[in-house]
Amino acid sequence: METKYIFVTGGVVSSLGKGIISSSLACLLKARGYRVTIQKFDPYINIDPGTLNPYEHGECYVTVDGHEADLDLGHYERFTNIRTTRANNVTTGRIYQSVIDKERRGDYLGKTVQIIPHITDEIKRNVMALGKTGDFDFVITEIGGVVGDIESLPFLEAVRQLRWELEDDCVCVHLTYVPYIHAAKELKTKPTQHSVKQLQQLGIQPDVLVLRTEHDIPAAMRKKIAQFCNVSPDAVVQSQDAPSIYKVPVLMHEQHLDEIVLRKAGITPQGEPDMGPWHDFLTRMDEAREVITIGLVGKYVELQDAYKSIDESLFQAATYNGRKVEIRYIHSEKVNPDNVDSLLSDLDGVIIAPGFGQRGIEGKFVALEWCRTHDVPTFGICLGMQCMVIEFARNVLGLKEANSTEMDPHTPDNVIDLMEEQKSIHNMGGTMRLGAYECRLKPGSRVAAAYGKPEVMERHRHRFEFNNDYRARFEQAGMQCVGENPATHLVEVVEIPGLRWFIGTQYHPEYSSTVLAPSPLFLDFMKSAIEYKESKKHTNI
Ligand code: GLN
Repeated sequence: METKYIFVTGGVVSSLGKGIISSSLACLLKARGYRVTIQKFDPYINIDPGTLNPYEHGECYVTVDGHEADLDLGHYERFTNIRTTRANNVTTGRIYQSVIDKERRGDYLGKTVQIIPHITDEIKRNVMALGKTGDFDFVITEIGGVVGDIESLPFLEAVRQLRWELEDDCVCVHLTYVPYIHAAKELKTKPTQHSVKQLQQLGIQPDVLVLRTEHDIPAAMRKKIAQFCNVSPDAVVQSQDAPSIYKVPVLMHEQHLDEIVLRKAGITPQGEPDMGPWHDFLTRMDEAREVITIGLVGKYVELQDAYKSIDESLFQAATYNGRKVEIRYIHSEKVNPDNVDSLLSDLDGVIIAPGFGQRGIEGKFVALEWCRTHDVPTFGICLGMQCMVIEFARNVLGLKEANSTEMDPHTPDNVIDLMEEQKSIHNMGGTMRLGAYECRLKPGSRVAAAYGKPEVMERHRHRFEFNNDYRARFEQAGMQCVGENPATHLVEVVEIPGLRWFIGTQYHPEYSSTVLAPSPLFLDFMKSAIEYKESKKHTNI
């Protein structure tokens, strides 16, 4: 079949969950046997979000091919099990960069280079790039931002043009908000009408409306919205706040979103999507009662989306282990030797978060010493793993000034050091060691048992690395290097075998954990936290 293109735009306000709606639709289409991919077009000028701090943009997600991407790509992967790449996330910056490169090469010789047609053509080329591979029946394109933003205009103009060019192979889904005014006790449709009007002024008539709401929208009100907005009444669906984002695909199917989109794309829906494994997951989620409490020590803990993939990986691991998870966010700047006991003592497991720079680092060492000496299941990820190494060097090897050269370039014991290939790099954007690399696991180690295989591929995002000059001293003192890259011998995993679960990974296993294929390492960590909790119950009797 011809590749069908679905565009998802948003109106009224941001943060309505376009990524979740796009992912849910993809999940349903995939469960119907279609080959689907999702891409996100972000209207900002940065080439990628790699240099944005989490306060600006939440977590930076990393694809297997080493692209630093918008966190929505994490949702796409978690909901669909597809692997995204650089091609799945394009920014205004990337579009302009490629147009300007072409201009310098002389590709437009003699012509004035303009937003229309040159920028819009470049956007269209990128929108179609994945579809052109022939690998997909559906390409879902989420347009970042809100209709009415100056930045979004060229993207919406490209969508308008593509609607004509693609004819029946194109469906526009518009996500808006229906607010509930408490004082009047009323749902209000006007913002939706205005948002659709704005889209129509740009020449785009949405085919489907998804209405985000905190309250049930009566059928009569949906019909009114349909009439005002020129959309067929059966193509107005509501997306009411759900207790879990993973319920959204099911809620969307109950309202026939997948069937509506198929029909609008000229396809007669056959049968039902195969959501069996998804429903199994939701059943486990609903049946889980006992709570496991995991502490997450990091410096961006006040931000909801800063550790998105870790939060979701913990949630998936808990669900598959028949538990609920409560994540207690602990600000690393606030941890000190006087309060560490009260902050950590009732936790069942601790994660030491990834990160950059000096701020909050000493708190991570204090937390780690406490976890190591109290034998609490502890998982260090990226900077968290590096902190495990530094804490061990200081307090077990007696190298009191051991550090990473990221924090102290003059440390006498650079147990974590800048990678050799990084030393000549000066540009900040996209120059870390990024993407999936092989890691060989040591037979007999906990990490090898957790994965159940001797070699894994996991994703990286770092410049600094365990210094192999110190390896023998660490291993003699009890911290083992149990995972390494077979080509470069970079240390990817450390563990202390004598402890319950004390593992640090230089890579980020959270990026590859999905609903239907959860990370084996998170599953094993959660198992250990459960066992630890059980053991505490017995000793308390
Ligand atoms: N700042 C560390 C490095 O660059 C760790 C990065 C991270 O945690 N993602 O190596």
